[in-house]
Amino acid sequence: MKQTPDAPHSVYGVEKWGKGLVEVTEQGEIGLRNPLAPDAAAISLPGILADLDDRGIKAPMLLRVSSYLEHEIAHLNESFADAIARVGYKGPYRGVFPIKVNQQAQVVDRIVEFGKKYNYGLEAGSKPELVVALAHRLAPEALIVCNGVKDAEFIQLAILSRKIGFNTVIVLESPKEADTVIEVYRELGIEPLIGVRVKLTNQISGKWEESSGDRSAFGMNTDQLVATVDKLREAGLLHCLKLQHSHLGSQVQDVNDVRRAVGEACRYYTELTREGVPLTHLDLGGGMGVDYTGEKKAAENSINYTVEEYCSNVVETVAYAMDEAEIAHPTLVTESGRAVVATSSMLVFNVLETTLYDAPTAPDVEPDDNHLVSDLAAINGYLSKDRLQECWNDATFYRNELRALFRRGYVDLRQMARAERIYLSLMARLK
Ligand SMILES: *Cc1c(COP(=O)(O)O)cnc(C)c1O
Repeated sequence: MKQTPDAPHSVYGVEKWGKGLVEVTEQGEIGLRNPLAPDAAAISLPGILADLDDRGIKAPMLLRVSSYLEHEIAHLNESFADAIARVGYKGPYRGVFPIKVNQQAQVVDRIVEFGKKYNYGLEAGSKPELVVALAHRLAPEALIVCNGVKDAEFIQLAILSRKIGFNTVIVLESPKEADTVIEVYRELGIEPLIGVRVKLTNQISGKWEESSGDRSAFGMNTDQLVATVDKLREAGLLHCLKLQHSHLGSQVQDVNDVRRAVGEACRYYTELTREGVPLTHLDLGGGMGVDYTGEKKAAENSINYTVEEYCSNVVETVAYAMDEAEIAHPTLVTESGRAVVATSSMLVFNVLETTLYDAPTAPDVEPDDNHLVSDLAAINGYLSKDRLQECWNDATFYRNELRALFRRGYVDLRQMARAERIYLSLMARLK
């Protein structure tokens, strides 16, 4: 972990991906900065580990930095609020955290706590996740968005939760789920809050591209969408259909993919509105990426945008599409997962072994060594600053000749080993 102070920047690019949260201190240690106290000095990670060690807590361990989580939640919500104010958008942002991205109780508890002042809610993709969501005290305006395949029990729980004050939206993934919702509604006599998941045709490139486009597992195509609207209308429940969900994918690399997909989602929203569906919420799912490498480009493990740009693009695209269609601006929902939690945990493990390539010392030449071995060793005698290239040329030539002789059986293993060691010690001096 000890490094000369400027090496880690050029070697590891800490300042590129560290987001100002992680840095290398003057002592050459990894330092953690507190984004909520920007003027405070970085805290030494080895120092934290030494304290834990004193308490008998040993690596491997997962460290969670809750101020990073608080910072990311604030950053997301405030970036949407800023974009909304700047564009003059006439609707709020009501984000939800998808529980599947980190189901640890400590994490979900903190997310709810830090998100309360922003009316930040939760997304549940299964019945157990809905149970988790219902165990939290969310802000009165916060949403619980239920995605995923649902049975009657899941739907009952979602509808019943409205009785105790949760804004639980059942997002229909198929026309069959609409039938189940209608049945459960008739049994319970409580009106559901309903959403529909629309499959976008825009395929978003990147690692998770199969979760977008025609063949993605979840959501409805236009035919199924129309069938669902008709079923709800017939059952007298169309007035409960308030939310449209279109999941953009995950780790979206290129912000222009966000614009295209949001534009397409808006087309469905405006068309459904024209059909008489009283939509009020547009949910754009997950997808905001993390720049793991810090390259700032649309490449594997990187992205070409910031949180602020993502939010601006979403708000601008929706505002433009709704104004064009003369439809009221919907409440914006996103389900960003990784972008919210990725920076807040780090896995720490012990170094078990290091592989060294350099040889610090050279062995002595022996009388019956091949002359190429003694030639190689002799380079040490004329190695100087102005003959670096020549020495490197010679060393490489002799070593390659020796390797050729070894392959043909003229040099034995022990001589070859001495030659290798002499060569590496020369390289160490040449560096
Ligand atoms: C996985 C998932 C998310 C979270 O995606 P991220 O890329 O982590 O933001 C959001 N919504 C749904 C429906 C998901 O399946």
